[in-house]
Amino acid sequence: VKHSPIKTVNPFTNEIVKEFDVMKPAQIASIIDKADEAFKSWKNTPFSERAKIIHKVATIMRERKEALGALATLEMGKLLAESIYEVELSADIFDYYAEHAEKFLADHPLDVKHGDAFLSYEPIGVLLSVQPWNFPYYQITRSAASNLMAGNTMVLKHASNIPQCAQIMEDIFKDAGLPNGVYTNLFVPGKDVEAIVSNPKIKAVTLTGSKPAGASITAAAGANVKKATLELGGSDPFVVLEDADVSEAVEVSVAGRMWNAGQVCVSPKRVIVPAKMYDEFLAKTKEAFSKLVVGNPMDATTNVAPLCTEKAAEDVVSQIQKAAEQGATIALGGKRVKRTGAFVEPTLITDITPKMDAYFEEIFGPVFMLYQYKDVDEAIEIANATEFGLGGTVFGKDTKKAVEVARRIDTGMVYINHVTGIAPELPFGGTKESGFGREQSIAGIFEFVNAKLIRTT
Ligand code: NAP
Repeated sequence: VKHSPIKTVNPFTNEIVKEFDVMKPAQIASIIDKADEAFKSWKNTPFSERAKIIHKVATIMRERKEALGALATLEMGKLLAESIYEVELSADIFDYYAEHAEKFLADHPLDVKHGDAFLSYEPIGVLLSVQPWNFPYYQITRSAASNLMAGNTMVLKHASNIPQCAQIMEDIFKDAGLPNGVYTNLFVPGKDVEAIVSNPKIKAVTLTGSKPAGASITAAAGANVKKATLELGGSDPFVVLEDADVSEAVEVSVAGRMWNAGQVCVSPKRVIVPAKMYDEFLAKTKEAFSKLVVGNPMDATTNVAPLCTEKAAEDVVSQIQKAAEQGATIALGGKRVKRTGAFVEPTLITDITPKMDAYFEEIFGPVFMLYQYKDVDEAIEIANATEFGLGGTVFGKDTKKAVEVARRIDTGMVYINHVTGIAPELPFGGTKESGFGREQSIAGIFEFVNAKLIRTT
């Protein structure tokens, strides 16, 4: 039997649950034609009317949060409580842009010498949005909420391992009354996306995912003179300052690292602590690890879920093995869990040096890497010693001092005393090889609008 690349495989049991046909190029072209046709009226729909529909999307998501949550857990394995939280967060984001988009996109008067001039923010057309599996609903929401409110239409290509989440979001938009063609799901494998970018009716592309996928899509966008934004990987530093409460810092960093089985672009992947504090921090981290329960993601007592696929689990274990071969200490874990499912043991790695790949790479699993530093300059050096620049944390009692350290970290986001988070009103995005552009907030909503100058004399 030839299996479709687009299918639900439950990572807790490794069973194939459902397969979907890949769309043919003619079908994709016809979906894009419809999205382009829909744009002609959607762009002229008053904000109040768009807002009514988008608020309804939020309401439906809240009403169906249990079922939606269970579906995300079935398809990609995250803890049920995390899945349900994600649905609630997504609903809040839809509400937020339904409420604020009109104000954000109001005409912007310019200070000119003669006459009047202003910027009018106008939607540009059909957007192609390519999204990853780690937050099946939130990733769609982050891309769709502000851009649909701005008057653009969207075709969305979700990751191939979460087709039912992808489909159900299209159904929710339909149930909320979104006109046909304004938002449509595409069932197409990643390798076929490049060809879609060159469709002349696609006006811009946005991708969240890995560097190779980002490079391929932006190359295609560049060749076709289209704007692109990218949200790629991260290897966020979590810098603990000398005045920090050790127990609190351990608790926040370990919980943050185990969130979504470590498959979060802004997870605290490298925890950097003062040499003076190191032994105590290590001991307390080991203690926190001993309390972690690996198991069925549907159980409320589990706090470490399986990874999204067998392949993901194998990839993480080979990165850990490579670190060990290169001389790092695997202080805890490091192997596959001896049970069915895409599980990796919660892993603690220490003694990582710049000679090792682990020093620079992103590890997308429950792997906590602990570093020590002599002075703040060294902490900053370690924090910035990666091509990634997504998020980060500075942990310490003196907020002013923590903010000074935050300013020296080369990332798009730094949180004080909290792992890099998500909120409807805050922008999200990175620098360096973590990509360019922003989603959400007043930074994100301007990415895919034409800031048209209108000048009167
Ligand atoms: P991935 O392979 O790049 O997949 C992400 C999406 O891109 C999927 O829809 C995938 O489709 C598609 N894709 C794959 N190859 C493509 C190509 N050549 N051209 C166009 N699209 C392509 O990423 P992943 O490894 O599954 O996801 C984890 C990565 O995403 C990590 O690096 C993580 O840090 C990053 N991430 C970043 C953020 C952020 O906001 N910055 C958020 C979440 C995750 P298929 O499934 O069909 O291959």
